Amino acid sequence: MRLDLREVINIPGAQADFDFMPEMNDMEFEGISSVIEPFHAVGTVKNKAGVLELDALVTARFRCVCARCLTEFEHPFKLDVRAVLAEDVQDEYESDIYTLEGDYIDLDEVIITSIVLNIEQRYLCSEDCRGLCGRCGKNLNDGPCDCGVEKDPRLAVLEQLLENN
Ligand SMILES: [Zn+2]
Ligand SMILES: [Zn+2]
Repeated sequence: MRLDLREVINIPGAQADFDFMPEMNDMEFEGISSVIEPFHAVGTVKNKAGVLELDALVTARFRCVCARCLTEFEHPFKLDVRAVLAEDVQDEYESDIYTLEGDYIDLDEVIITSIVLNIEQRYLCSEDCRGLCGRCGKNLNDGPCDCGVEKDPRLAVLEQLLENN
Protein backbone atom coordinates (compact mmCIF):
# COMPACT_ATOMS: atom_id res chain seq x y z
CA MET A 1 0.00 0.00 0.00
CA ARG A 2 1.24 3.51 -0.84
CA LEU A 3 0.37 6.07 1.78
CA ASP A 4 -0.22 9.64 0.65
CA LEU A 5 1.77 12.02 2.86
CA ARG A 6 1.05 15.28 1.07
CA GLU A 7 -0.93 16.51 4.07
CA VAL A 8 1.83 15.50 6.50
CA ILE A 9 5.25 16.14 4.96
CA ASN A 10 5.45 19.88 5.53
CA ILE A 11 3.02 20.26 8.41
CA PRO A 12 4.48 19.69 11.89
CA GLY A 13 1.91 17.98 14.10
CA ALA A 14 -0.01 16.45 11.17
CA GLN A 15 -0.50 12.72 10.89
CA ALA A 16 -1.84 10.06 8.52
CA ASP A 17 -3.29 6.77 9.75
CA PHE A 18 -3.18 3.43 8.00
CA ASP A 19 -4.67 -0.01 8.43
CA PHE A 20 -3.85 -2.62 5.80
CA MET A 21 -2.69 -6.14 5.03
CA PRO A 22 0.79 -6.18 3.52
CA GLU A 23 1.18 -8.03 0.21
CA MET A 24 3.30 -10.97 1.30
CA ASN A 25 3.09 -12.73 -2.09
CA ASP A 26 3.03 -16.19 -0.54
CA MET A 27 6.34 -15.55 1.18
CA GLU A 28 7.26 -18.55 3.28
CA PHE A 29 8.97 -18.55 6.63
CA GLU A 30 10.92 -21.26 8.38
CA GLY A 31 8.87 -23.18 10.93
CA ILE A 32 5.47 -21.81 9.92
CA SER A 33 3.17 -24.45 8.49
CA SER A 34 0.11 -22.34 7.85
CA VAL A 35 -1.31 -18.89 8.38
CA ILE A 36 -4.47 -18.60 10.46
CA GLU A 37 -4.70 -14.81 10.39
CA PRO A 38 -2.55 -12.99 7.83
CA PHE A 39 -0.27 -10.08 8.70
CA HIS A 40 -2.21 -6.94 9.52
CA ALA A 41 -0.58 -3.55 10.13
CA VAL A 42 -2.20 -0.62 11.92
CA GLY A 43 -0.37 2.61 12.55
CA THR A 44 0.36 6.24 11.87
CA VAL A 45 2.93 8.48 10.26
CA LYS A 46 3.39 11.65 12.31
CA ASN A 47 5.27 14.78 11.53
CA LYS A 48 7.19 15.44 14.73
CA ALA A 49 8.89 18.81 14.38
CA GLY A 50 9.63 18.12 10.73
CA VAL A 51 10.69 14.48 11.13
CA LEU A 52 8.32 11.85 9.76
CA GLU A 53 7.97 9.04 12.25
CA LEU A 54 6.15 5.83 11.47
CA ASP A 55 4.71 3.77 14.28
CA ALA A 56 2.85 0.54 13.64
CA LEU A 57 1.67 -2.63 15.28
CA VAL A 58 1.81 -5.72 13.08
CA THR A 59 -0.12 -8.81 14.13
CA ALA A 60 -0.76 -12.24 12.67
CA ARG A 61 -1.50 -15.78 13.81
CA PHE A 62 0.25 -18.89 12.51
CA ARG A 63 0.48 -22.58 13.03
CA CYS A 64 4.11 -23.38 13.75
CA VAL A 65 6.09 -26.57 13.96
CA CYS A 66 8.18 -26.99 17.10
CA ALA A 67 11.85 -27.27 16.10
CA ARG A 68 12.44 -29.93 18.77
CA CYS A 69 9.34 -32.13 18.98
CA LEU A 70 7.70 -31.30 15.61
CA THR A 71 4.32 -30.70 17.25
CA GLU A 72 2.17 -28.05 15.59
CA PHE A 73 0.88 -25.24 17.72
CA GLU A 74 -0.68 -21.81 17.35
CA HIS A 75 1.58 -18.83 17.64
CA PRO A 76 0.45 -15.20 17.82
CA PHE A 77 2.85 -12.80 16.09
CA LYS A 78 3.16 -9.24 17.34
CA LEU A 79 5.68 -6.65 16.22
CA ASP A 80 6.08 -2.97 17.01
CA VAL A 81 7.54 -1.16 14.04
CA ARG A 82 9.20 2.22 14.45
CA ALA A 83 10.80 3.88 11.48
CA VAL A 84 11.79 7.28 10.18
CA LEU A 85 10.81 8.32 6.67
CA ALA A 86 13.16 10.62 4.84
CA GLU A 87 13.52 12.11 1.38
CA ASP A 88 17.14 11.07 1.20
CA VAL A 89 18.68 8.31 3.15
CA GLN A 90 22.27 9.34 3.85
CA ASP A 91 23.43 5.94 4.91
CA GLU A 92 21.81 3.12 2.95
CA TYR A 93 22.74 0.66 5.63
CA GLU A 94 21.10 2.62 8.38
CA SER A 95 18.15 0.50 9.39
CA ASP A 96 14.77 1.89 10.34
CA ILE A 97 15.05 4.74 7.84
CA TYR A 98 13.04 4.44 4.64
CA THR A 99 13.00 6.65 1.58
CA LEU A 100 9.89 8.49 0.47
CA GLU A 101 8.75 8.13 -3.11
CA GLY A 102 7.91 11.74 -3.70
CA ASP A 103 5.00 12.46 -1.35
CA TYR A 104 4.29 8.79 -0.75
CA ILE A 105 5.72 5.96 1.29
CA ASP A 106 5.57 2.33 0.21
CA LEU A 107 4.15 0.83 3.39
CA ASP A 108 4.53 -2.73 2.11
CA GLU A 109 8.28 -2.23 1.90
CA VAL A 110 8.55 -0.81 5.43
CA ILE A 111 6.31 -3.43 7.03
CA ILE A 112 7.56 -6.47 5.11
CA THR A 113 11.21 -5.53 5.71
CA SER A 114 10.51 -5.21 9.43
CA ILE A 115 8.72 -8.57 9.51
CA VAL A 116 11.55 -10.34 7.66
CA LEU A 117 14.19 -8.82 9.96
CA ASN A 118 12.33 -9.66 13.14
CA ILE A 119 10.52 -12.92 12.56
CA GLU A 120 11.84 -15.91 14.52
CA GLN A 121 13.79 -18.52 12.60
CA ARG A 122 12.68 -21.40 14.79
CA TYR A 123 9.78 -21.99 17.10
CA LEU A 124 9.53 -24.04 20.26
CA CYS A 125 6.22 -25.27 21.67
CA SER A 126 7.68 -24.32 25.05
CA GLU A 127 11.06 -23.12 26.28
CA ASP A 128 11.69 -26.45 27.99
CA CYS A 129 10.36 -28.71 25.27
CA ARG A 130 12.04 -32.11 25.73
CA GLY A 131 11.96 -32.97 22.04
CA LEU A 132 11.86 -36.43 20.51
CA CYS A 133 13.81 -39.48 21.60
CA GLY A 134 16.70 -39.87 19.15
CA ARG A 135 16.20 -43.62 19.16
CA CYS A 136 12.47 -44.38 19.11
CA GLY A 137 11.11 -40.98 18.07
CA LYS A 138 8.66 -40.71 20.95
CA ASN A 139 7.65 -37.23 22.01
CA LEU A 140 9.33 -36.96 25.42
CA ASN A 141 6.91 -34.23 26.52
CA ASP A 142 4.35 -37.05 26.85
CA GLY A 143 6.63 -38.88 29.28
CA PRO A 144 9.81 -40.92 29.09
CA CYS A 145 10.12 -43.66 26.48
CA ASP A 146 11.25 -47.22 27.01
CA CYS A 147 14.77 -46.56 25.75
CA GLY A 148 15.30 -44.52 28.91
CA VAL A 149 17.44 -41.44 29.03
CA GLU A 150 20.59 -41.61 26.89
CA LYS A 151 23.01 -43.34 29.22
CA ASP A 152 26.53 -42.36 29.96
CA PRO A 153 28.47 -44.98 27.96
CA ARG A 154 30.72 -45.72 30.94
CA LEU A 155 27.66 -46.49 33.04
CA ALA A 156 26.28 -48.73 30.29
CA VAL A 157 29.50 -50.77 30.32
CA LEU A 158 29.29 -51.10 34.07
CA GLU A 159 25.67 -52.25 33.90
CA GLN A 160 26.58 -54.80 31.28
CA LEU A 161 29.29 -56.16 33.56
CA LEU A 162 26.89 -56.38 36.48
CA GLU A 163 24.26 -58.12 34.35
CA ASN A 164 26.77 -60.71 33.19
CA ASN A 165 27.71 -61.63 36.73
ZN1 LIG B 1 8.19 -28.99 21.26
ZN1 LIG C 1 13.07 -43.74 22.99
